[in-house]
Amino acid sequence: MPGKEHQWSRREFLKVVGIAGAGSVVGPFCRPANASEGSSEMPTRPFGSTGINVPILSFGGSLDTSLSMLVLRQAFKRGVTYWDTANTYMGGRSEKGIGKYLTKYPQDRQQIFLVTKSHALTLNELSMDLDLSLERMQTDYIDLYFLHSVRRTGQLDDEIKSWAEKKKAEGKIRLFGFSTHSNMAECMLGASKLGWIDGIMMRYNYRLMHSDDMRRAVDACTKAGIGLTAMKTQGGGQVKTNSETELKLAGRFTEEGLSDAQAKLKAVWENPNIASICSEMPNMTILMANVTAATDRTRLSSLDKALLQQYALETRSAYCAGCVQICESAVAGDIPIGDVMRYLMYARSYDNPHRGCTRFRKIPLNIRAQMAKADYYMAEGRCPQKMAIGKLMQDALKELA
Ligand code: SF4
Repeated sequence: MPGKEHQWSRREFLKVVGIAGAGSVVGPFCRPANASEGSSEMPTRPFGSTGINVPILSFGGSLDTSLSMLVLRQAFKRGVTYWDTANTYMGGRSEKGIGKYLTKYPQDRQQIFLVTKSHALTLNELSMDLDLSLERMQTDYIDLYFLHSVRRTGQLDDEIKSWAEKKKAEGKIRLFGFSTHSNMAECMLGASKLGWIDGIMMRYNYRLMHSDDMRRAVDACTKAGIGLTAMKTQGGGQVKTNSETELKLAGRFTEEGLSDAQAKLKAVWENPNIASICSEMPNMTILMANVTAATDRTRLSSLDKALLQQYALETRSAYCAGCVQICESAVAGDIPIGDVMRYLMYARSYDNPHRGCTRFRKIPLNIRAQMAKADYYMAEGRCPQKMAIGKLMQDALKELA
């Protein structure tokens, strides 16, 4: 489809795709990209102090991209040229699908900001994972290589620093950083003091962005020149309609021609220090909804933002903020409470029980036995989100095991 689609109004687009996906826009802080065909209207932002500009919307590849050639092609044409994957996504099929795409369209490689990640625990494994990713994706280099799911700054030691420098010198990676789902603010603050982290991908959304810790972390990373990519920007899935606030919120966005999903993207883009939003876009409907949201010229009003914040407060007990240092230290054993909460979110809110179950089943049986018997009373007392941790752990054992 030609680039003219970017001219659709939010209302027109909603008529086509329904409330599940359309959108609007970008604030005055954005400027047009000048990159690829048909992408003239996708805004870009500097990725920290790397000297690289990235589109404000990036393609989250935690899916079998070999089945998504059309979506990848259209994403590229619409300026979504930042692609994120990991060596473990879909057992490697995500990286292989990108390799399939780059084999077919090798001329696109230079315009794509390609990111992948590894969970490796040793440097040797990290090197092997990197080489495998390069081979799978049919490329000589990765633009940004992430250590996956970092929980504490101690994981970013001098050995990792030397490894990253060596791989940069070999030309296998251009930039290095990490992704984080847990203790995000602490990890970001720690990274801002290291001086050798180029980029971070962290959970960040309308629920998390207002905490003092997260504000400080984003400011510190920005000052340190670290590029920031937001993930999990929907904050736990669709706005429900069980209360007056929820009805008011969903109704208000609908009247404005926005889905609540688009409004949540816009809330994140309001912060100019967030370079890009990584969004999983498995089909053309979601891709076009997000592209429309990125390229539309409207902004959320103060009331829109206030309502989102109020909704976040009223529904906080349904959303885990990832502050695992608070709850996990209050429970005996090695129970990964934050991870289990995330797996439940995949199954319940993101309508992806397969992902939730697959990840949950990697938890060793002895840890699951600890989960079943643990006393969560103290953890619940400390949880800032007031989550019913004990009940949710039992739910996970029943629903995901
Ligand atoms: S359960 Fe509560 S304390 Fe634990 S990570 Fe989630 S929000 Fe934080």
